[in-house]
Amino acid sequence: MNILILGSGGREHTFAYKIAESSLCNNLYVAPGNAGTSEIGENLSLNPIDFPAVGKAALDKEIDMVVVGPEDPLVKGIVDYFKKDERLREIMIIGPSSRGALLEGSKERAKEFMAMYDIPTAAYESFSFESLGAGKKFLEKLDPPYVLKADGLAAGKGVLIIDDLEEAKKELENMLSGKFGAASEKVVIEEFLDGIELSVFVLTDGKSYKILPTAKDYKRIGEGDTGLNTGGMGAVSPVPFADAEFMTKIEERIVKPTVEGLQKEEIDYKGFIFIGLIKVNEEPFVIEYNVRMGDPETEVVLPRIKTDLVKLLENTWNSSLDSIELDIDERSAATVMLVSGGYPQSYEKGKEITGLKQIEDSIIFHAGTKMEEGKVVTSGGRVIAITSFGEDFNKALKKSYQNADRLQFDKMYFRKDIGFDLSQE
Ligand code: ATP
Repeated sequence: MNILILGSGGREHTFAYKIAESSLCNNLYVAPGNAGTSEIGENLSLNPIDFPAVGKAALDKEIDMVVVGPEDPLVKGIVDYFKKDERLREIMIIGPSSRGALLEGSKERAKEFMAMYDIPTAAYESFSFESLGAGKKFLEKLDPPYVLKADGLAAGKGVLIIDDLEEAKKELENMLSGKFGAASEKVVIEEFLDGIELSVFVLTDGKSYKILPTAKDYKRIGEGDTGLNTGGMGAVSPVPFADAEFMTKIEERIVKPTVEGLQKEEIDYKGFIFIGLIKVNEEPFVIEYNVRMGDPETEVVLPRIKTDLVKLLENTWNSSLDSIELDIDERSAATVMLVSGGYPQSYEKGKEITGLKQIEDSIIFHAGTKMEEGKVVTSGGRVIAITSFGEDFNKALKKSYQNADRLQFDKMYFRKDIGFDLSQE
């Protein structure tokens, strides 16, 4: 099979790594890819949201399967685009249609979907500029902190958690007046849930599903979960507190009704569902749906899947996921993200990365890297994810940290406390 992966981060390098392992894969392409993906496949210089260009590349390279990494092309309708074109329609494309992708593209839609199928989530109401007054009254009824969410995609920045009521009212007004552009024309206000977060990943063919390994990521730049939000500074899998009893609750109350809801609404969904959850007093609540894998969670989830990934995705496309066994590596995996100094604010690019050949017993997944005159250099905020296996996540982390010390680039930074909150749970 010829396979095309869309995207350029650590997530996509991890997909490329797993797909390249499969005997079912002949030629592998990544668009646009990074320095890591160029070592195992061919990078194509095109933008994943330029659908005509993606379609043309798919035909030129005789692609049999497309794996869509990021949410943007999905929300913008890449799956629908392929289905409408008679030359592209036979190509297996992994990801939901735009109707399915709205579960991530609109927080209001996600909340309505959860309400419809009795899926546990925080109480909420949604407001537009016309209902600003009602929104302020709703805030008065809630206890602090106040959670305000821009309805649309806002690059992970559209959620504000505010302690002070007056400030929350002001921010509501700012958001509805265009703080996040069209993304905050509507704002979801919801009850604050106090608990510990985890992520559950599901692969579905629209009827049946497989629950993939759980993961927990660390979003803040600073140790002890302090400072600004980032794309993710590290992750572990499995999540130690997600025991069998808790996972049964998640499956029965959340995963099953989610897949059944998609089916009832006749939504074409052949792809990943990333369920962001919070555990409150032993009970799971949904914080958000994403319609693709997470980054850096992919870097710990996919390496633990022993079943041939291409076969799994092929069965997803053929609606025969229930006929394949999912074999999971029992070991823990942990990943540590090396980032450019200054990230998530301004940072420099083009720094040479050295030590890549000295890595022992870890897997290097490139994120913001590119090749320049035969050297691997930084090209983004998040640069490299170091994934390792171990009997438990601490042992896995130890290897990742040992290897972090073997790598260098100017102003390299990483968090040294990934998993810090899991020991007391
Ligand atoms: P992401 O960058 O994870 O995609 P997002 O912008 O889609 O984020 P959410 O995941 O809905 O937004 O919220 C971001 C973060 O805000 C969550 O990971 C969680 O820490 C916090 N959060 C969101 N909703 C709640 C809530 N109801 N109670 C407590 N914390 C919340």
